[in-house]
Amino acid sequence: MIKLYNTLSRTIEEFKPIKGKNIGLYTCGPTVYDYDHIGHAWNYSMADFLRRVLEYNGYKVKHVMNVTDVGHLVHDAESGEDKLEKSAREKGKTAWEIAEFFLDIYLANRKKLNLEEPQVICKATDHIKEMIKMVEILLDKGYAYEISDGIYFDTSKFPKYGRLSGNTLESLKEGARIEINPEKKNPTDFVLWKFSAAGEKRQMEWEAFGKMGFPGWHIECSAMSIKYLGESFELHTGGEDNIFPHHECEIAQSESVTGKPFVRYWLHTRFLMVDGQKMSKSLKNFYTIADLEAKGFSALDLRYLFLTAHYRSQLNFTWQSLDAAKIARERLNNFILGIKKKGKVNKGYKEMFLEKINEDLDMPQALALVWQMIKDKNVSDEDKKATLFDWDKVLGLDLANLKKVNIEIPKEVQDLVKEREVARKNKDWSKSDELRDKIAELGFMVEDTSAGSIVKKK
Ligand SMILES: [Zn+2]
Repeated sequence: MIKLYNTLSRTIEEFKPIKGKNIGLYTCGPTVYDYDHIGHAWNYSMADFLRRVLEYNGYKVKHVMNVTDVGHLVHDAESGEDKLEKSAREKGKTAWEIAEFFLDIYLANRKKLNLEEPQVICKATDHIKEMIKMVEILLDKGYAYEISDGIYFDTSKFPKYGRLSGNTLESLKEGARIEINPEKKNPTDFVLWKFSAAGEKRQMEWEAFGKMGFPGWHIECSAMSIKYLGESFELHTGGEDNIFPHHECEIAQSESVTGKPFVRYWLHTRFLMVDGQKMSKSLKNFYTIADLEAKGFSALDLRYLFLTAHYRSQLNFTWQSLDAAKIARERLNNFILGIKKKGKVNKGYKEMFLEKINEDLDMPQALALVWQMIKDKNVSDEDKKATLFDWDKVLGLDLANLKKVNIEIPKEVQDLVKEREVARKNKDWSKSDELRDKIAELGFMVEDTSAGSIVKKK
C-alpha cells in the first residue's frame, strides 16, 4: 500500500488507481527562458522518486511533462511581458531560439540527475489547436467571457475554485492585487487566451477568436494532460508555488470542460532554500548544475543530497551539505566496487525498504536503511550488493554503472594508476609509493581494495 500526501485533501491518503495498474502522472515542466537551477532539480527529482516508487510497486506509469515556451508572463500575472519574448530581447535571439537553447540544457541536466525520461514531453507551442478548442468549449458553456485584452475564465461559475490552495473566493478577492483589470467580472478571474496588444508584433502569436493572440499560461497544462492522459487521471506534481494560481486554474478549466474530476492526487514539493534563504539572482545564491560541476561535484551528489530530505520538508542547500552527500556517495560506491559478485536480494530488507518508500516517499528513511544494511553482519556482502542494485531502481544513484566514474579521471592519472598496479603486482613497494605521490600531485588519490585500485579526486 502506497501512502501519499494529497494537497487537495490535506491528508495522507492511500493511493488507489482509477483503473488497474496503468496510471497517469503529469508534471508541470520548465518555462524555458533561462537556466534551470537546483531548486528545479529538487522539484523534478521528487516527481522522479514518485514515478520510481510507483514502478517499484508494479505500476506502469505514463509520465507526461510539459514545456512552457509561450504565454508565461513575468510574475505569473496576467499582464506584463512574456518571459520568453523578454529573454529573447535581452539576449538578442528569437524566442524560438531561446526555447530550444534552454530546453536542451534542461534535458541534459535531467540526464545528469538520472531522472527517468517522461514518455511524453510536450511543448505548449505544439498544442495551440488543443488550447483554442478548450477555450471555445469554455466560451460555449458560459465559463468564459471576452474583454478587450483577452478571454477570461469566470471563477464565480466554478464554486470549487480555491479548494486546492485552501483559499476561499472571498479571501482571494480581498487578497487580489490592487492593479486589477476593471473589465474583469471578478478579481480572481484569470486569462485563458490573451490578445496581442495593438501595434505589437509578437514573435509567437496565432490567429484565433478573430485576432492575433497567444495562450495564457494555465491552459496548456489542461489541454496537454487531457490529450495524453485522459479527462481523469491519477497524479499531478509541481512545486509548492504551482498550487496557486496555476494548479487551481488547471482544475477549474479542466473540470468545467469535461464535467469530470480532473486529478486524484496532487503532490507538491516545498521550496529549496540556499543557506537558509530563498534562492534569488540578486542574492547570488542561484546555482545551476554547471555551477556544481565547476566545483568538482556531480549531479548525482545533488541527487544523493535530495535523498536525505523529505519532499515536504524545507531542504536547505549548503556547500557543506553537498560535500557531505558527495563523501557519503563515494563511500557507498566504494563499498559496491569492493564486492565482486552479486548475491540475492535480501527479502527482509526489501520489505523494510518498501515500507519506507511507500510511506509518502520517505527517502531519508530509505537511505538510512541502506547504511543500516551495509553495517549488518548477518547479511553477506554479495547479498548486500544485490539488494542495493534492486533499491537503486528507486534511489537512482546509477550504482550499476560505477565504472563510468573512472572515465572522468584524466588519461595521465589513469596511466599512472595502471603503472602502479603493475608495480604492486611485482611487489615493488617503493615504486608503488612513488607513483602514489605522483598521482596525489595531480589531485587524485588511490585506494587499494580487494577489487583493485579505486581512484578518487582529492
Ligand atoms: Zn502546469
